[in-house]
Amino acid sequence: MDFKYVILGGGVSAGYAAREFVKQGVKPGELAIISKEAVAPYERPALSKAYLFPEAPARLPGFHVCVGSGGERLLPEWYSEKGIELILSTEIVKVDLASNTLTSAAGTTFKFDTLIVATGSAVIKLTDFGVQGAGSKNIFYLREIDDADELIEAIKAKKDGKAVIVGGGYIGLELAAVMKINNYNVTMVYPEPWCMPRLFTPEIAAFYEGYYANKGISIIKGTVAAGFEANANGEVTAVKLKDGRVLDADIVVVGVGARPLTTLLKGQVEEDKGGIKTDAFFKSSVPNVYAVGDVATFPMKMYNEIRRVEHVDHARKSAEQAVKVRFTFTLFLRSVDQQLLVV
Ligand SMILES: Cc1cc2nc3c(=O)[nH]c(=O)nc-3n(C[C@H](O)[C@H](O)[C@H](O)COP(=O)(O)OP(=O)(O)OC[C@H]3O[C@@H](n4cnc5c(N)ncnc54)[C@H](O)[C@@H]3O)c2cc1C
Repeated sequence: MDFKYVILGGGVSAGYAAREFVKQGVKPGELAIISKEAVAPYERPALSKAYLFPEAPARLPGFHVCVGSGGERLLPEWYSEKGIELILSTEIVKVDLASNTLTSAAGTTFKFDTLIVATGSAVIKLTDFGVQGAGSKNIFYLREIDDADELIEAIKAKKDGKAVIVGGGYIGLELAAVMKINNYNVTMVYPEPWCMPRLFTPEIAAFYEGYYANKGISIIKGTVAAGFEANANGEVTAVKLKDGRVLDADIVVVGVGARPLTTLLKGQVEEDKGGIKTDAFFKSSVPNVYAVGDVATFPMKMYNEIRRVEHVDHARKSAEQAVKVRFTFTLFLRSVDQQLLVV
């Protein structure tokens, strides 16, 4: 378990990084991808969209990367054909940059020369804030394919029921739409004066809110979910709002944001704005460690400041950029070595 390159995480950026490694001529046995998920890298955005459709839903292998950007679909066989070790269902619990090792939950040790951190984000849960009843069954969050599969089971079990969507960001909006398509009676709740407040102007938000209202989705603004009621089986039955209202619910989907997964690197690399600080080539403060996708805080020319970006296109492009840079550097070192040998 000793690799020249290891990608920690098996999501969007990992898949695009793998394709770029192959383009750059990585040799069989040099690259490993280690992922907590049980499936090869896929286009995560599908999970809140066609994956949840009641008819003709998207399913793997249909949306493995890189179809989201119109590229080749990298099936699990592709990785083996290219000699890339795809190590799935394996959670890394310790990263030690002093010894260049990763340790999995099962105790396996992986060594690397270069590490690309691509761990993405974890959802913020209402249980993190001690919201009463937030641990009840049928309260869902959406990040990985297993989360989506659990939601689909509940959608079937509570057929044509009532759904409350907590949060007015893109996850909230998409989930409200998809629950409506699944014939649920849908109510959205969020504290802001309009949906997607960080991105939408009031006018753009008004268009969407009107569109949703026309589809029969109720929107309650200016308040938050303050607690949940559950039945004897522990299943959610109602959402208690801070303003005193109570909404019946068979299913609750919460989309209140995500945090970059940087904890394994804490104290070992420089961080900024909640992410791993990198240069424009996605290299961290430790020379053989790169950070890509959601976890990278990188310089953005456009705003003339460093930022973290949770966006699928950024995940794809940062991954490709990091691999190109690492490879160019390695090839440069090889050529220097060869020239020294000649001398
Ligand atoms: C439901 C949903 C819909 C979205 N829709 C859109 C959209 O429409 N447009 C858009 O621009 N963006 C969207 N996004 C955001 C976009 O998907 C992310 O920005 C992108 O996936 C980030 O890529 P990443 O590789 O950094 O992380 P991810 O794709 O999240 O991959 C991280 C991977 O690392 C693994 N991992 C984490 N920790 C460990 C560990 N300790 N050990 C092993 N493996 C680990 C995870 O299991 C996962 O496989 C959406 C996100 C979600 C959740």
